[in-house]
Amino acid sequence: VWLVGAGPGDPELLTLKAVRAIRAATVLLVDDLVGDAVLRYARRSARIVHVGKRGGCRSTPQAFIEQLMLREALAGARVVRLKGGDPFIFGRGGEEAASLRAHGVHVEVVNGITAGLAAATSIGAPLTHRDHAHGVMLVTGHAKDEATTLDWGVLGAAAAQGLTLVIYMGVSQAARLQAGLLDALPASTPLAIVQHASTARQRSALTTLGGLMDTLAREDLGSPAVLIVGDVLRGLAQ
Ligand code: SAH
Repeated sequence: VWLVGAGPGDPELLTLKAVRAIRAATVLLVDDLVGDAVLRYARRSARIVHVGKRGGCRSTPQAFIEQLMLREALAGARVVRLKGGDPFIFGRGGEEAASLRAHGVHVEVVNGITAGLAAATSIGAPLTHRDHAHGVMLVTGHAKDEATTLDWGVLGAAAAQGLTLVIYMGVSQAARLQAGLLDALPASTPLAIVQHASTARQRSALTTLGGLMDTLAREDLGSPAVLIVGDVLRGLAQ
């Protein structure tokens, strides 16, 4: 099974290796954030199974996806599991690889450009500009359960040390993460919201940490979006 990163949406951001794997696949299991344009590289005879939340359906249970991949692989299919962005940045790629390997299936992982990096580039933000940042943190706003919920105050303190914060799945938790980050960062800290990065539907807004909730409402921005917080956004055109 190939776990393949489909990138953030723009098919030109696919790697050559991803295209080669998609072309070779006889079965493709496709996440909902994977753009249709990427599927044009699939063989006409390939079986394409959408396992996302498309059309408002509930997302396919993870166990079902893992069983389906396993069954197809053991039956001799060339299986490509196409995931948005990079397969190992959020999105459960690690769980899927572990489950397949536990059943003796060989897994190849093909990197994709992760949404956070594409979002930053699309608005011209150099995430580690050395005048402003020593590094970058990729974090999820959506914890697996309460016990693993992030301490946003601690993350804010790290950001105040010069680490740019890139938050995936943060829109639904925006009020909470804003409150926590404000414990350590000034309300004037620049913040960007980038929705549908790298696609024709891309929209973005440049605001401040203090203005996050107002901007989300006013600009009607929602998932899928990445939030970027830090001084590397200073000087960007609105
Ligand atoms: N593996 C993916 C992330 C999966 S988690 C990757 O590497 O990009 C899903 C989250 O990713 C979304 O809730 C959103 O925060 C982000 N995301 C995915 N595609 C996006 C896009 N085109 N624009 C903005 N955010 C995106």
